[in-house]
Amino acid sequence: MKIQENISLKAYNTFGIDVNASFFAEVRSKDDILEALKFAKTKKVPILILGGGSNVLFTEELYALVLKINITGIKEIKSDDKTVLIEVGSGVIWHEFVLYSLEKGLSGIENLSLIPGTVGAAPMQNIGAYGVEIKAVFQSLEAIEISTGLTKTFLASEVKFGYRESVFKTSLKGKYIIYKVSFNLSKVHAPNISYGDIQTVLDQMDQATATAKNISKAIISIRQSKLPDPKVIGNAGSFFKNPVIPVDVFDNLKLKFPTLPGYPNATHVKVPAAWLIENAGWKGKQVGEVGVHKRQPLVLVNYGNGKGEEILALSRQIQTEVHAKFGISLEREVNVVNSKNLIQV
Ligand SMILES: Cc1cc2nc3c(=O)[nH]c(=O)nc-3n(C[C@H](O)[C@H](O)[C@H](O)COP(=O)(O)OP(=O)(O)OC[C@H]3O[C@@H](n4cnc5c(N)ncnc54)[C@H](O)[C@@H]3O)c2cc1C
Repeated sequence: MKIQENISLKAYNTFGIDVNASFFAEVRSKDDILEALKFAKTKKVPILILGGGSNVLFTEELYALVLKINITGIKEIKSDDKTVLIEVGSGVIWHEFVLYSLEKGLSGIENLSLIPGTVGAAPMQNIGAYGVEIKAVFQSLEAIEISTGLTKTFLASEVKFGYRESVFKTSLKGKYIIYKVSFNLSKVHAPNISYGDIQTVLDQMDQATATAKNISKAIISIRQSKLPDPKVIGNAGSFFKNPVIPVDVFDNLKLKFPTLPGYPNATHVKVPAAWLIENAGWKGKQVGEVGVHKRQPLVLVNYGNGKGEEILALSRQIQTEVHAKFGISLEREVNVVNSKNLIQV
């Protein structure tokens, strides 16, 4: 494993923010991780774990060792009539794993097609789209404890999945490096097409049969029409989570804002953050080199040479104005990375 010095992270984050890291190593195995941790301990330098960089916002130059996770490999472990257990290296690109599952005739993750990033980061925020979250297919993961170098297996119950949440974003934040994730995929296809425009797009594509492959194609087409491609315009997908508010709060708001959409569960209502941002007047606004996307207001963008601090300042202004108008606090989905929240080893 090679440790490089003074490396620009511009190519390693989908916002395209140009900050430097003092040290940078691509880790391809568990041993590489242990070696990198030893280096960081000896040099007394904090670390940053980086997958595809599609859910991070760098706001400062980083005196840190960046561990770019590049652990590959997809392996079938066991199979019965209905399911296949598959073990995947944490550096595998998520969408490549989705394509692998479709080629093998398996289903369970087709609705999660085209989500950027790596397999290892997927459990961090329980990635989700079009009515499916990875918790539905997650079996277990293996991770290295940063303070001891010991390996631990986490079962689903220990990961404590929630909406864009897991234990790795709360009580175990910054404590583990995930190097392998196992999933249970299904040989029996149970299509989930109730969400959004999937059926409409299947019809338009003349592919009304909801096979896993067709659902994947439909979702890819919807995502490409709605979301900006980070290769063209820097972004990290949804910048905020959709707020979940009590039913009585929603009902009161609805009296004042009759067009406010809401998706109820037993006790709460999920409100689209995009609607709140648009109705606070931010859709399509540009501030210098950064702004709010013109079609999808939940996505903040870097038009080229924007700085992480500028995107963060914009996000705070949006939070303030949404709160002033609707009394709702928007919570960030994207992980802000600065010198204060690096992992000390
Ligand atoms: C255009 C676009 C669309 C998106 N759409 C969606 C969507 O539909 N649904 C959704 O849920 N998300 C979406 N996202 C967000 C993003 O794709 C996911 O959060 C993804 O899982 C991030 O993966 P990554 O490898 O890029 O993680 P990174 O951004 O590199 O890291 C994210 C966090 O996880 C930590 N981390 C990464 N790898 C590991 C590891 N192996 N061990 C321990 N910690 C680790 C990092 O330190 C960081 O805190 C979108 C992003 C973009 C740019």
